[in-house]
Amino acid sequence: MRRKIVAGNWKMNNDLGQTDELLTELLKKMPETEASVMVAPSFISLRVAYDALIQSPIEVIAQNMHFAESGAYTGEVSAEMLKSAEIDTVILGHSERRAYFNETDETLAKKVSTAIAHDMTVVFCFGEELTDRKSNRHFEVVESQLKKGLFHLESQAWKNIILAYEPVWAIGTGETATPAQAQEMHAFIRKTVAEQYSSDIADKVSILYGGSVKPDNAKEIFSQADVDGGLIGGASLNAKDFIAIIEAI
Ligand code: PEP
Repeated sequence: MRRKIVAGNWKMNNDLGQTDELLTELLKKMPETEASVMVAPSFISLRVAYDALIQSPIEVIAQNMHFAESGAYTGEVSAEMLKSAEIDTVILGHSERRAYFNETDETLAKKVSTAIAHDMTVVFCFGEELTDRKSNRHFEVVESQLKKGLFHLESQAWKNIILAYEPVWAIGTGETATPAQAQEMHAFIRKTVAEQYSSDIADKVSILYGGSVKPDNAKEIFSQADVDGGLIGGASLNAKDFIAIIEAI
């Protein structure tokens, strides 16, 4: 059975006090679930979040890291630093990092390798832009992002990979892929992984959908055969909404 996952990406929101408030509210109403639940606060809040959630099943994960081990990279955070703060999972390749911080497929491949070398789990994000979909290039773009970002990995590294298909046109826009569009792309992603590696690896990898998942659309999206959960932005900033999405899985 594939792992079901609901992960909240807080982006550049929530200072220390707000982190504490949101997690306290979340813990009060956290439902029993077989799904893995994750939250990704800012670097500043990682440790506070870790301490607040230590007795809970919710995992604290990072939003980014650098590919280098250490050195003259002002403002960056390394895998070793995350590990020393007990953070074992990192989101890489979010479309906002690709768009605003010039992260390329090549730098992402290096980041993925570094994370795997440190035995971290990677939530690898990718997805097409609206122009790609309109010109019917969405499968080609997604395949290319997968190949360039991940297909240098050895088979055994895939136990540490979680995929997050996030069509850029659906992120923070209120526009969601239809359940059928999500299923179609997730099935394509699984097939692409199977062709490169094996059907065993493809069957085991969790593929999350991200892009304006809300309490009122989560259930239908999560009910698709190849959708194993969601990466949630805006709705993860509100405990009630995030809990409703967890309940939907
Ligand atoms: C995201 O940032 O990964 C995301 C899916 O955001 P939103 O849910 O706000 O569209």
